Amino acid sequence: MKSPAVVNFAPAKHSVEIREVERPIIGDEDVLLEVANVGVCGSDLHQWTADHSWPVNYPVVLGHEFGGTIIEVGKHVEGWQEGDRVVSETAAIISQNNPMTRRGMYNLDPTRKGFGYGVNGAMTRFVRVPSRILHSVLDSLPFEQACLTEPCCVAYNAVVRNARIEPGDRIVVLGPGTIGILCAAMARLCGAQVALVGLEPDRHRLEIAKQYGCEAIIGDAKAWSMERDGLGADGIIDAAGASVTLKIALDLVRPAGWISKVGWGPQPLGFNLDQLVQKNVTLQGSFSHHWAIWERVIALLSSGQLDVKPIIGGVWPISQWHEAFEKMHSGAVVKSVLCPTL
Ligand SMILES: [Zn+2]
Repeated sequence: MKSPAVVNFAPAKHSVEIREVERPIIGDEDVLLEVANVGVCGSDLHQWTADHSWPVNYPVVLGHEFGGTIIEVGKHVEGWQEGDRVVSETAAIISQNNPMTRRGMYNLDPTRKGFGYGVNGAMTRFVRVPSRILHSVLDSLPFEQACLTEPCCVAYNAVVRNARIEPGDRIVVLGPGTIGILCAAMARLCGAQVALVGLEPDRHRLEIAKQYGCEAIIGDAKAWSMERDGLGADGIIDAAGASVTLKIALDLVRPAGWISKVGWGPQPLGFNLDQLVQKNVTLQGSFSHHWAIWERVIALLSSGQLDVKPIIGGVWPISQWHEAFEKMHSGAVVKSVLCPTL
């Protein structure tokens, strides 16, 4: 039985098309999910436009932000049954013996392979998922929202685990993409005053971000950062898809402040790090997420403390993946969601 899938088939630009793929055969530790919804991620767009920084196993079904219903359970799977509503983490393959995995930090296992680049992802009807990365979703949380647990976990890690925010802190978030907006929302939950910074073409996305109670700044955030005592913002979350924005972060941060860098890009930097030293700044990278973060974010989504509805720009059938990708790429919407059963 074959189903249409959004497949990235080669490293060249725009090598994405609909292909018919076989229904996956599951292993003893896996479940088969019928995908209800799958979010389009900036990284799916990067693979489409071929400006990504990670190795891809071509051909591969795209999509790693997804939720659905279990329709088949492997022989050795415990605690899950057919009919369960779930979302899945992204670490499809990890090495159980890697020292990082053994410390519970399997997101940092260098051999980790994720959905949508390392193994077939969820932009199709059925996806095979190891049961160790499943999480339950309440009936009251629609899959259009639940499928965005993954980017929320990226934000949670960058803002909560890899940074330190106290109520009343002034926090600048660079980059008003999905991750930037969710980081701003998360910093608000931590009790910070937050400014989200973008460029003129980001005006629409910045407008959406205001619903999370943050300032929206186009261009220079220096004045906002200095407003309180002239020394700079307490922390900077750099969620722009480039390395060079680190320069802006170093300009805006106060002495003894911190920078949490979650946005990345392969282009090199062209400046020195003197400010990092002189200001005694902590520079922290943030990558992916793990089980405990997922449980916490699902709790926030279920309780309504974190609401992803404002960022959802629409739901498209798989066959209209191109429009969904294009709308997000152009910034017309923050987040596109696909539905394989539409
Ligand atoms: Zn993602």
